[in-house]
Amino acid sequence: MVNNTIEISGEPRRARSGRGPEPRHAIELIGAGKTYRSGSIEFEALKGIDLTIDVGEYVAVMGPSGSGKSTIMNILGCLDTLTKGEYHLGGDDVDDLDEIELAAIRNEQIGFVFQGFNLMPALSAWRNVEVGMMYARVPKEERKVRAQRALERVGLGNRLENRPGELSGGQQQRVAVARALVGEPTIILADEPTGNLDSVSTADVLSLFDELHEAGRTIVLITHELEVAQRARRIVWVRDGEILRDEVNAA
Ligand code: ADP
Ligand code: MG
Repeated sequence: MVNNTIEISGEPRRARSGRGPEPRHAIELIGAGKTYRSGSIEFEALKGIDLTIDVGEYVAVMGPSGSGKSTIMNILGCLDTLTKGEYHLGGDDVDDLDEIELAAIRNEQIGFVFQGFNLMPALSAWRNVEVGMMYARVPKEERKVRAQRALERVGLGNRLENRPGELSGGQQQRVAVARALVGEPTIILADEPTGNLDSVSTADVLSLFDELHEAGRTIVLITHELEVAQRARRIVWVRDGEILRDEVNAA
């Protein structure tokens, strides 16, 4: 079922039919391990980590190249599955789901923001935002209204008809954030979202994340840049597939 209204300024209020009240934990990894296998070679990229992120938290996952950030991102985003331990997303147990079930969970519960924006160049801003809702079978008129509202929310209400090539990098990333928001996901998962941006656009996108956090959204920001990580309220430091530190960011 899909709501007729979009609650973009607050935590999603979609009814969770038959699942009871909204869970406090957005994310729960318990002894989570990932071993990659190719032929006889095995590599343990995640060594049994425990990580809980509550609804409304803004958390950065920070670490050097090769530390396991993308592995964590793929697990949290239901793009890959654990080889050990458990993953609960929004109260649902995600382990042992097949590809089709994972795709459904992904579509419903995750809003992705990627380093390279991943917008469709031939489509206008609002069409880029509405296209994901087609899979959720939202009627066309409603898709348009919701896409427009999401673009207004990120300050692009006057750029609805522009294609990505007619927008700056920072504006393109804001379109991508609008696309991530529009389905009212459990979490917004951003993988190096400022990696391709200049300093002005970086500041722009990071203040948008600040606003979304203020409005009660759950955000997981993956980065190798300390300056970016320091915008989050909590920093989880990873190294060699383990959590090194997990600290409140007082800044
Ligand atoms: P990060 O994103 O922090 O750079 P990754 O999660 O991509 O780190 O990788 C963590 C470790 O796992 C690295 O040593 C990497 O080489 C290894 N790795 C990642 N993906 C695979 C794979 N598909 N097969 C084998 N090893 C992999
Ligand atoms: Mg990576």
